[in-house]
Amino acid sequence: MAATRTFSIIKPDATRRNLTGAVTKMLEDAGLRVVASKRIQMTREQAEGFYGVHRERPFFADLVAFMTSGPVVVQVLEGEDAVARNREVMGATNPENAAEGTIRKTYAESIEANSVHGSDSAENAKIEIDFFFKPEEIVG
Ligand code: UDP
Repeated sequence: MAATRTFSIIKPDATRRNLTGAVTKMLEDAGLRVVASKRIQMTREQAEGFYGVHRERPFFADLVAFMTSGPVVVQVLEGEDAVARNREVMGATNPENAAEGTIRKTYAESIEANSVHGSDSAENAKIEIDFFFKPEEIVG
C-alpha cells in the first residue's frame, strides 16, 4: 500500500510540558514519518478557521482560547494508512476513554487539553495540510 499523509498538531498543553519529543517519538514508533514540522503561535483567526466545523459547539470559545494559549507544533505525517494509524496512536478524544499506550492516555490532561490533534479523514488531512503548509515545506 502506498504511503499517505495526515496532519497532526502537538497542542499547547504538551509543548508547555516539554513533551514535543516524547509525543513525536510515539508517532514515529507507530510507523509515521515526520515530513514537515514547525512550531508556531496560532492566531485567534487561525484557530477559529481551523476548528470552524465546531463553531456552534458549546466548547468552541474555550477551545480557541486553549489552542492560542501557547505554542503548537504542526506536522505532516507520512506512512501506510497514515490517517487511521495516527488516530489509533492518538487515542480517544477524552483521555478517560483512551486505550492504554495511546498518546492521550499517556499525556492528555483533559478532554480539551488532550495533547494532540489528528485529521479524521484523508479529505480533511489535505485541507488541514494546505491550511498550514506550503508544498515546498513538505519534504518526503
Ligand atoms: N473538545 C473539547 N470538548 C469536547 C469535545 C472536544 O474541548 O467536549 C476539543 C478537544 O480538544 C478535541 C477538539 O475539541 O480534540 C476537537 O474535537 P473532535 O470531536 O474533533 O475530537 P478529535 O478529533 O480531536 O478527537
